[in-house]
Amino acid sequence: MIEMQSEVQQIHIENENNIQLFIKREDLIHPFISGNKYRKLKYNLLEAKKLEHDVVLTFGGAFSNHIAATALASKEMGFKTIGVIRGDELVSKIDENPTLSFAKENGMQFHFVSRDDYRKKSSEIFLNELKKRFDNFYLIPEGGTNQLAVKGCEEILTSEDSNYDYICTCVGTGGTISGLINSSFEGQKILGFPALKGNFLNKEISNFATKKNWKLITDYHFGGYAKINPELVTFINDFKSKYSIPLDPIYTGKMLFGLFDMISKGRFKPNTKILLIHTGGLQGISGMNERLKSKSMPLIKV
Ligand SMILES: *Cc1c(COP(=O)(O)O)cnc(C)c1O
Repeated sequence: MIEMQSEVQQIHIENENNIQLFIKREDLIHPFISGNKYRKLKYNLLEAKKLEHDVVLTFGGAFSNHIAATALASKEMGFKTIGVIRGDELVSKIDENPTLSFAKENGMQFHFVSRDDYRKKSSEIFLNELKKRFDNFYLIPEGGTNQLAVKGCEEILTSEDSNYDYICTCVGTGGTISGLINSSFEGQKILGFPALKGNFLNKEISNFATKKNWKLITDYHFGGYAKINPELVTFINDFKSKYSIPLDPIYTGKMLFGLFDMISKGRFKPNTKILLIHTGGLQGISGMNERLKSKSMPLIKV
């Protein structure tokens, strides 16, 4: 795998308080592998190599950035992949689903399970069945979060990032924010914008994070994971035409929407310097547009 350093760009916003906003373009480190997913896979795939595994198995939904990233990154490192996919109705829809067809083109073999069975995916019985069916594999959990993933995400921040007051990131399973917390600099605060509802994340992050300089901003999930509305689509489209930076509808769009709202409400002290992490996720736009089209809603411009 290549070593990565991503570029930081300023986002010029008009505001009375001279809040300065910067964005770290982790979305640009690989054309297909979403920024933070690449970070999370790096040490896992190195570990799988060390343990002499040939096969990597992981879990995800129909539009999962993690499934797409795992398929390609594993292929590049010479692994076969198995994706355990939520929703057995998807068996017949692989070719019309952009994420699944991308993973398939990159060699992923699928194992579709019902939503009920998928919920049990961490249970011993379920895992034993997978072991019987697929023999020996290296397991990466849903969303890719484990200790090695957090280690990879600790490499997002570099010594050049020490003078920001806040680091902001989107949160799914909490691996990315944990890495950022661990490698943050003295005096920095980490703000996480969860893409889903619920309080389970605080516990998950506390398991991995070595410091307490973080907070979750829970007002901008738009009703839950992958839930969106026309206001968010308009925001994403306007942002792209103004700053030439694409945002995804599930994670980064919600974070930027939230942060702009907080800035407009004066939630930050004057002269605050904020660094946002663009975690990628752009492969999910076409899948979301399919859904928007079927509901006759405005589409995300690509
Ligand atoms: C997966 C993902 C996240 C969430 O990362 P976690 O480590 O699971 O919290 C954020 N942004 C994007 C674009 C993602 O694909």
